[in-house]
Amino acid sequence: MTRLKDGIAPGRLSAAQYRDNFSDLHPPLDDHEALVAADRCYFCHDAPCMNACPTSIDIPLFIREIATGNPLGSAKTIFDQNILGGMCARVCPTEQLCEEVCVRETAEGKPVEIGRLQRYATDTAMAVNAQFFLRAPATGKKIAVVGAGPAGLACAHRLAMNGHEVEIFEAKKKSGGLNEYGIATYKTVDGFAQAEVNYVTAIGGITIHNAKSLGRDFKLADLTSDYDAVFLGMGLGGVNALDAKGEDAKGVADAVDFIADLRQAKDLGKLAIGRRVVVIGGGMTAIDAAIQSKLLGAEEVTICYRRGAEAMKASRYEQELAASKGVTIRHWLAPKRIHDKKGKLRTIELEYTEVRNGKLKGSGETIEIACDQVFKAIGQMLVADDLGVGGRLELERGKIRIDKEGCTSLAGVWAGGDCSSTGDDLTVSAVAQGRDAAESIHRALAG
Ligand SMILES: Cc1cc2nc3c(=O)[nH]c(=O)nc-3n(C[C@H](O)[C@H](O)[C@H](O)COP(=O)(O)OP(=O)(O)OC[C@H]3O[C@@H](n4cnc5c(N)ncnc54)[C@H](O)[C@@H]3O)c2cc1C
Ligand code: SF4
Repeated sequence: MTRLKDGIAPGRLSAAQYRDNFSDLHPPLDDHEALVAADRCYFCHDAPCMNACPTSIDIPLFIREIATGNPLGSAKTIFDQNILGGMCARVCPTEQLCEEVCVRETAEGKPVEIGRLQRYATDTAMAVNAQFFLRAPATGKKIAVVGAGPAGLACAHRLAMNGHEVEIFEAKKKSGGLNEYGIATYKTVDGFAQAEVNYVTAIGGITIHNAKSLGRDFKLADLTSDYDAVFLGMGLGGVNALDAKGEDAKGVADAVDFIADLRQAKDLGKLAIGRRVVVIGGGMTAIDAAIQSKLLGAEEVTICYRRGAEAMKASRYEQELAASKGVTIRHWLAPKRIHDKKGKLRTIELEYTEVRNGKLKGSGETIEIACDQVFKAIGQMLVADDLGVGGRLELERGKIRIDKEGCTSLAGVWAGGDCSSTGDDLTVSAVAQGRDAAESIHRALAG
């Protein structure tokens, strides 16, 4: 047995182990499996699954289309509502959405595999580059979209479909937002995020300007004066601080940056990972950082969360997935101090927490966990400086305030996805908000 190297080191595993560890989490259904899975659907007339989908995909209809041997028709039904239906099929926490309320889940504890069926249909269509949408006659209107993440792409596609010209300004070199830089590697393999960007933009009328950043390269006022409307879909680029002493020590990093490096790595064997990793947080980012640390060869990976299991944002399924990969989840612990010696992390000191008078408080009792790497995954925040906030663009709890139409407080500017006050940090919700804002922009420009 090879002895694991101490500290943060690359190349802990063999090439074959990296390949196996980061392969597709849920391999696609083949034709026969899809027919068998579709056959379990009751095609409920009141379809609770459909109500639970933030993009309101007609789930019984697309499953019936699969059952009748029409996967392309099924893909069209999905894309009508959600043009990023391929990614959502891979990353949606279906166990908390459509599959949670599926009547077969309620009756038998085993839902129809809606996510995998959606992937079957959308993969079939994308494999043959089946295009279902024609653009309406040109309106002569030009719309600027900031951010080529799920919200920006969904908005751009619907605007292009309605006959408008769209220019997307994206800060990063690659488009896709967190689909490209954030989602766990094993959920979206084989460059699917870029394939999907190409599929979405194939409708025409959408130009993406990469490496162009609002705040750095141009101002919001430039966009409002040069375009007929503006959509802000810039996500949350900042990371919350731990508020623990020593958090600037070498070996402490943002989980989102770690995952972005992982997603862009050409050779996983060159990625350094600690032998003992501690992840602070309770959401999907914490789970993904922890699982991927383990898959990169870390020996001990511990998630520390300041409340109980039921309060974690990561679903029960995600928590169980982490446990199945050997990650330990510890609750009621908040970080206090990180101890290092000669530039190497030694331990993280955490305080037990409890709820007193309805408030989370430290109990005074502490423990230390040995570690050589710590990832912070305690939530992201809007980089409001990019917006030049002030004037009439108002924020609400640190995000851009929008109304039901997706309108911000600034005339001619809409927003959606994670950066908006109603965003809920899910890919599918960002798609729904981008699409709905596009319809609102279209109505406003037409009227
Ligand atoms: C690690 C991680 C794992 C996740 N896993 C899941 C999952 O499994 N399932 C799920 O449903 N959700 C998951 N999420 C949440 C999901 O990724 C987001 O809710 C979703 O990506 C939000 O889409 P968005 O378009 O609003 O923002 P983003 O995806 O963040 O896209 C915003 C885009 O705007 C660009 N941008 C930012 N600032 C500027 C600027 N000033 N100028 C120009 N461009 C700018 C960014 O570069 C980015 O491309 C995860 C999130 C993280 C962090
Ligand atoms: S709730 Fe389940 S069984 Fe009913 S339509 Fe939806 S997927 Fe089919």
